[in-house]
Amino acid sequence: MIVTKNLKKSFGNLMVLNGIDETIQKGEKVVVIGPSGSGKSTFLRCLNLLETPTDGEIWFEGNNITDKKTDINKIRRKMGMVFQQFNLFPHLSVLENITLAPVKHGIMTKEEAEQKAMVLLKRIGLSEKAKSYPNQLSGGQKQRIAIIRALAMNPDVMLFDEPTSALDPEMVGEVLDLMAQLAEEGMTMVVVTHEMRFAQKVATRVLFMDEGKIVEQNTPDAFFENPTHPRLKEFLSKIL
Ligand code: ADP
Ligand code: MG
Repeated sequence: MIVTKNLKKSFGNLMVLNGIDETIQKGEKVVVIGPSGSGKSTFLRCLNLLETPTDGEIWFEGNNITDKKTDINKIRRKMGMVFQQFNLFPHLSVLENITLAPVKHGIMTKEEAEQKAMVLLKRIGLSEKAKSYPNQLSGGQKQRIAIIRALAMNPDVMLFDEPTSALDPEMVGEVLDLMAQLAEEGMTMVVVTHEMRFAQKVATRVLFMDEGKIVEQNTPDAFFENPTHPRLKEFLSKIL
């Protein structure tokens, strides 16, 4: 589904991604961990071209999306993204937040989008919040709505950038549960997170990034039980 070839990204003189060769198959749940500043967010943001790579290629569903001729908007529709800070539009109701993109991109009529939004809201038990505004919601509710807002576009892959890092501890579970459900249903997912139990339970593969490179990757069991790279051992010893 996604292939990166020698993906590089610099900001000025700062090399943030230093040659990433990675293949993500349809249906995989890839968890990315690594120290702060190692390039995890930049990697995710390059995948859907929120950042323009400095060098290398990204292929998505058989198309080279780093090719200048690619219609970026068409690609982004197929890649849902969820951010640490929710990024809901504060001046729009929950329903409007969810229906905005599908209607704007001409994927659904307003009625269809609203119907779909209500089905998704019901699924997460928040039907009664349709007319509420983001500032009337808890952090966990906001993030679950950000997730279904992305799902409303029928994406082929979901990218999560530390989706629970801004939440109060008691709200982390409800967001991780929803993500685990999506995983169960077969969604292809790339998740940057520090939630190691989630990685252990849900990931098909865990990647460790350090200084702009993926320096180790494995199945969750092997990754946590037999880390080999010294930087990964050190990292795990600090967080586990
Ligand atoms: P992580 O998500 O692993 O913490 P990031 O991908 O956010 O790491 O950042 C990696 C490095 O790139 C950091 O040193 C950060 O300061 C730098 N960086 C990220 N985005 C920008 C930007 N837009 N402009 C300049 N530097 C950036
Ligand atoms: Mg980050």
